Amino acid sequence: MAIVKEAYDTLESIVGSEYISDDPIICEGYRAGPGGYECGLGYERVMAQIPGAVILPQTTEQVQKIVKVCIRYKVPYVPYGTGFLGPRSHPHVPNALIIHLKRMTHFEIDEKHFYAVVGPGIIYSQLQEEAMKRGAYVVVGGGGCQVSVVANLIGDGWSPLSHRIGLPHRRILGTEIVLPDGELVKMGSLAYGDDPFWGDGIGPDLRGLLRGYTGLRGCLGIVTKMALKLIPFQPERLIPTGISPDTGLQLPEKRIKWINYQMPSKEAQIKAMFEICKAEIGGAVTKVPLFWRAIAKAECKEEFWNLWGKENEDTIKNFHILRILLIGYTSEEQMQYDENVLNDIMKEVGAKARPTKPTDESWIKNADSAGMWLMCGSYISVDFVIETLEHAIPHGEYYAELKNKYTPPLMPDYRDPGWFQSFELGHQGYSEFLVYWDQDEDTTGVDHFYVETSKMNIRNRFYTALLGPMQPLYLTGPAYGPNYHKWLLAIKDEFDPHWLCHPPVPLAHDEFVERAEWMKPIKDWESPKIFPKSKGNLN
Ligand SMILES: Cc1cc2nc3c(=O)[nH]c(=O)nc-3n(C[C@H](O)[C@H](O)[C@H](O)COP(=O)(O)OP(=O)(O)OC[C@H]3O[C@@H](n4cnc5c(N)ncnc54)[C@H](O)[C@@H]3O)c2cc1C
Repeated sequence: MAIVKEAYDTLESIVGSEYISDDPIICEGYRAGPGGYECGLGYERVMAQIPGAVILPQTTEQVQKIVKVCIRYKVPYVPYGTGFLGPRSHPHVPNALIIHLKRMTHFEIDEKHFYAVVGPGIIYSQLQEEAMKRGAYVVVGGGGCQVSVVANLIGDGWSPLSHRIGLPHRRILGTEIVLPDGELVKMGSLAYGDDPFWGDGIGPDLRGLLRGYTGLRGCLGIVTKMALKLIPFQPERLIPTGISPDTGLQLPEKRIKWINYQMPSKEAQIKAMFEICKAEIGGAVTKVPLFWRAIAKAECKEEFWNLWGKENEDTIKNFHILRILLIGYTSEEQMQYDENVLNDIMKEVGAKARPTKPTDESWIKNADSAGMWLMCGSYISVDFVIETLEHAIPHGEYYAELKNKYTPPLMPDYRDPGWFQSFELGHQGYSEFLVYWDQDEDTTGVDHFYVETSKMNIRNRFYTALLGPMQPLYLTGPAYGPNYHKWLLAIKDEFDPHWLCHPPVPLAHDEFVERAEWMKPIKDWESPKIFPKSKGNLN
């Protein structure tokens, strides 16, 4: 069903008839799935809706006008980058307007001060290519380079390269955002001039309005322009190789090199991580889930299962791999120095280097997202936490224990404690736990597991990144902060009193639990009847 005609006509007068549509076939094309992130889960089945119309603005002024029309006609709307976040980036209410930002392709690079200014239509491959031509680089999310830089930086923004490169919220510089009331807010140095070089700006640092460790998933306005920091890289070209889908970047081995180490024990793995951080070497230091090796080797689903199906708890128990990226940022000699230090550390802990391909398929500029779902059809990352290394390591072990109770329907990973790595040369640690399932099976166990992970975090005093939009807010809010939820909802009420900007985020997971009968047995926390407006429930 489309949005009301009067609203549609007014919106059309803003962008022209070519850039708006309520054609059911076009709208169907914006359906979440099939396949991919969170595919087939209860959340997708219950919450994701086909939009009533889609609009493609080109300028910030057009975005402001669109938002004001939405307020006048009470049309719910959703800012949309590339839609990679599955149901989370699609409407949750009927007759919503998707504001697809792909025509907003503003792009500048300041070579002298190493920053870029991008519109939300710019994707990482474009930015990374331009950055690398100038001896700079940025972090690209693990899902690949095909996503909006802005959407990633306000929502996520990390990878193994975060070992060296600062956290995403530190790399966001001058930014502009259209608030849910249609007003334009400029942050950082843009608050008092046209030069976006600085993120802090005068007065309070408003970057906290965009994100915490993770982001608000589009429920508090639309970012229309952002400056971000570029990081000095090395000058040699990385050459594209292979034939799709088996592609990669050939690395200039004297300046960039991946090395995989077989570690004798988990203790050795952890000790080496700390020592590498202390020595301040390397461009990435990460332990990744073991089944990624099977994904990397397999060319199809059958081959994946032939490889991974041979493993069991005993075979993987003593298998510890540490993956290191060396970068000669300043010279070949500097990289040689890093490698010598690394060899000393690895010799001391008894690690062995394994042959490693001199290419990069994932982390620097490629899009390997298709392979992410290869083994089962569906995937989600449960938690992605930036805390300390001391936090990251036991966090994965607790996850492995809980996950075991829900396998199947989860894909077996034989208690592998997931992905953990250092951030910012060990000043921070990261843990992420990926789960896979077959969307054609009963997914109740996956829906339960997802929420139970939050309860596990609260019980065991782990931090979580999924405060707010990606877990029930009334479950996590009282435990963290405390009363994080009250603050978040008060801000939402203030700026979006009609709850039109991606409703009911940040209460979407609460709403899902209310609506899905099968979630009732595990709902053991208090929440008021919350949607559509939270006001009056914040006592
Ligand atoms: C398989 C997979 C692996 C991933 N691995 C990583 C990883 O390792 N590291 C990492 O950092 N990320 C990772 N991600 C997250 C991914 O990079 C983000 O989903 C991506 O940044 C979203 O980009 P998008 O352009 O598709 O945004 P969308 O999916 O379209 O939008 C994401 C959210 O942001 C909102 N939004 C979009 N644009 C704007 C805007 N301009 N203003 C306000 N709100 C907006 C949307 O409403 C939505 O809620 C992964 C995701 C997947 C699916």
